[in-house]
Amino acid sequence: MNTIQTTLHPSRRRLLAGAAAVSGLALAGCATGGASGPSIGRVVIVGGGFGGATTARYLRMWGGNVDVTLVERNASFVSCPMSNLVVGGYKQIGDITRSYEGLKAMGVKVMQGEVVAVDVGSKKVRLASGAELPFDRLVLSPGVDFMNDQVGGLTAALDSGRVVHGWKAGPQTVALRKQLMDMPDGGVFAMSIPRAPYRCPPGPYERACMVASYLKTAKPKSKVLVMDANPEITSKKGLFERAFAQHYAGIIEYRANAELREVSGTVAKFDFEEVKADVLNVIPPQRAGDIARTAGLVNVNNLWVGMDWLTMEASAAKGIHVLGDATFSAPAMPKSGHMANQHAKVAAAAIIQLLKGEPVSATPVVMNTCYSFVTAKDVIHVASVHQYDDKDKTFKPVPGSGGVSSAANQIEGRYALSWADNIWDDMLA
Ligand SMILES: Cc1cc2nc3c(=O)[nH]c(=O)nc-3n(C[C@H](O)[C@H](O)[C@H](O)COP(=O)(O)OP(=O)(O)OC[C@H]3O[C@@H](n4cnc5c(N)ncnc54)[C@H](O)[C@@H]3O)c2cc1C
Repeated sequence: MNTIQTTLHPSRRRLLAGAAAVSGLALAGCATGGASGPSIGRVVIVGGGFGGATTARYLRMWGGNVDVTLVERNASFVSCPMSNLVVGGYKQIGDITRSYEGLKAMGVKVMQGEVVAVDVGSKKVRLASGAELPFDRLVLSPGVDFMNDQVGGLTAALDSGRVVHGWKAGPQTVALRKQLMDMPDGGVFAMSIPRAPYRCPPGPYERACMVASYLKTAKPKSKVLVMDANPEITSKKGLFERAFAQHYAGIIEYRANAELREVSGTVAKFDFEEVKADVLNVIPPQRAGDIARTAGLVNVNNLWVGMDWLTMEASAAKGIHVLGDATFSAPAMPKSGHMANQHAKVAAAAIIQLLKGEPVSATPVVMNTCYSFVTAKDVIHVASVHQYDDKDKTFKPVPGSGGVSSAANQIEGRYALSWADNIWDDMLA
């Protein structure tokens, strides 16, 4: 098994300074690591992923003295970014798992549990255990949940474990890797991509490359069938097409406009084709995480949370801040870990300012970079910068900013691994 080594570690301090500057959020008199004195307010955060963990950390760093409680259902954080490397066999699940000890050391109260109800009026959340937590401000960063009922037989197929999604990292990632290793040479690995928007636009195509990279050497008679409900590759199209042709000709077959309708065992019925797979990897259609719906915040297409982007509050409820994948994305804004991390910084600054009765920043700027491995070492990126537009009350891409790699290359392979180390530290260290 190959294990990719991280060789480049840009200083975390540099990344943090850059993050604050690019977000336009430097706060006068920022404390680092929390402070003494009377609490300026109680903030409860639901979800310890990219958005929630970053908010917790930055509230403690920037907040003077904010009382921060983070509720997360899982005992530790497992990263979706880099999880495709686990599927391909180039990393182990432990390499993408981090604990919440760093946040605890910063004074965040970390509770493992499931939030099952939000009482907006009386400002408290209820956990499955029955415990109640009062808040002055609430942050929800629950990620996505799946609409399995939109595909016939999918719920039963996922419940049986015969079909896995691998779109929330953890046991599903490990199960998908195991299915791939157990697949016979000459077998078919079929994956289904839902209609956009879904979390991580380039993620499915990176996964196809990682699976094909493994099969190319371990089981060269096998095929990867990429069945895409979208009319074309949704991100870094030209670069992925080049990677498919250059590295995986005869292995990856790509079909557009192929929406999954029904699953039975590992037989999948798409719009114009039926596929019998040895491994069937279904990425289900997605919407905002359940707790956003339970809280009554989902008000766009019955799927996503409409936003006040200046404060990151839900448009349906003042005082409740929603981040990351659960939001109805601003124009050209991806659902990514990097973007959730940026949302978190806008929210942390706004929460502190609101708790202090000060005006929030009127000119936030956020950015995104998303790396994708196309071989074990070669990587491509897409980047963008988004500036708040006061007239239209949303973030808009800054003309001329960002772009994509000119070609896949190994330098970006090292940048990608460093990006992951840095953002995990920026959330959790
Ligand atoms: C295969 C793959 C590859 C990806 N690669 C990249 C990449 O390279 N770069 C990038 O920027 N992004 C990438 N992403 C996207 C990224 O993972 C998501 O956009 C990001 O996780 C969104 O952050 P979030 O805070 O909205 O949700 P999450 O990070 O998913 O966090 C949500 C958390 O909330 C918890 N939770 C939910 N509901 C409750 C509840 N009721 N009570 C308690 N806890 C709850 C969940 O357990 C979870 O830990 C990738 C995604 C996938 C699937």
